[in-house]
Amino acid sequence: MRAVTTAQPLDVSPTPLALLLLGREADPGSERGVECPGDLPAPSDPDLVARAAAAKAKLGDKVFVLGHHYQRDEVIQFADVTGDSFKLAREAAARPQAEYIVFCGVHFMAESADILTGDAQQVVLPDLAAGCSMADMASAEQVAECWDVLTDAGIAGSTVPVSYMNSSADIKAFTGRNGGTICTSSNARRALDWAFEQGERVLFLPDQHLGRNTAVRDLGLSLDDCVVYNPHKPNGGLTTEELRSAKMILWRGHCSVHGRFSLDSVNEVRERVPGVNVLVHPECRHEVVAAADHVGSTEYIIKTLEAAPAGSKWAIGTELNLVRRLANRFAAEDKQISFLDKTVCFCSTMNRIDLPHLVWALESLADGRVVNRIQVDPETEKYAKVALERMLALP
Ligand code: SF4
Repeated sequence: MRAVTTAQPLDVSPTPLALLLLGREADPGSERGVECPGDLPAPSDPDLVARAAAAKAKLGDKVFVLGHHYQRDEVIQFADVTGDSFKLAREAAARPQAEYIVFCGVHFMAESADILTGDAQQVVLPDLAAGCSMADMASAEQVAECWDVLTDAGIAGSTVPVSYMNSSADIKAFTGRNGGTICTSSNARRALDWAFEQGERVLFLPDQHLGRNTAVRDLGLSLDDCVVYNPHKPNGGLTTEELRSAKMILWRGHCSVHGRFSLDSVNEVRERVPGVNVLVHPECRHEVVAAADHVGSTEYIIKTLEAAPAGSKWAIGTELNLVRRLANRFAAEDKQISFLDKTVCFCSTMNRIDLPHLVWALESLADGRVVNRIQVDPETEKYAKVALERMLALP
């Protein structure tokens, strides 16, 4: 039987009202900030596509629209470039003539774009409620408290922070201030190699799975070399001895999308689709990664499918918007692509950027009003840049 393939025509219809209202909600306690001001166009407006195109044309070279791989089709059709978060931030920095960078992604990505672009460039996030649950799992206060715990244990001086790109600017700045580096899912191995040349152990933030998978799969460390620091427990839920003997101190954070794939999903798809190749993102749990045939970043996933032979079958463990687009794109080449889990799962915060919010942002800019600007304060930017530059200098 054919797997749950999603090869359907592009759906560029406006978002249902429920999601639009959800996108107007706010959570001031999280990294995603405050509520979206202004009047949004009605999601039922049949002219939304034409309005976005007209506003973008009016802005011309002044605007550059970035679209993360996990964005909706209705939004991605207006992206000047698509990619993962780091690629997008660099693309923005490479276009100093673009006064406005409209980032169709989530809050930490827009922060990174602001850090890497020039002072004259303004970064806009169409919906300020588009945060990231993983980035929210490590607040600046919690991480400072963790560092105090490591200091009291006498090991802060020999511990190197390595923070995943999917973290707030505050966490990136903490990393820069304390001799650490940022990593992406593509260069996590190189970042860990570098970190172990600088110190005896690594504090990996905020995704425990990427940290564990890279340490065990790529560096050959054992699961026993890794401990999980729980910011909601005294001392992280660990004894001083456990902290001292660990090689990897993993922050207790995870991606709510990739964390849902299970070993059962892998076993089930192998039974259902004989000969299937299982390809997953390293944000998945360790047992899923261990059972998969291929593991890599979103860019790796795309390249692997591009190179795959006709007639091959693939089950992909990453966000559903991307998997659907890949299924559509490769259906004509007779590559059968399905979602790894039986239950559909979008990244709900990525999905908050919808066509009404994009139209609102573009039309506001075309009228000379900068809305939803994401601006990192100079002190945070300075140290976050130190950590990002260490990553760029990785061998
Ligand atoms: S897919 Fe996961 S890591 Fe990416 S924005 Fe959504 S919750 Fe965050």
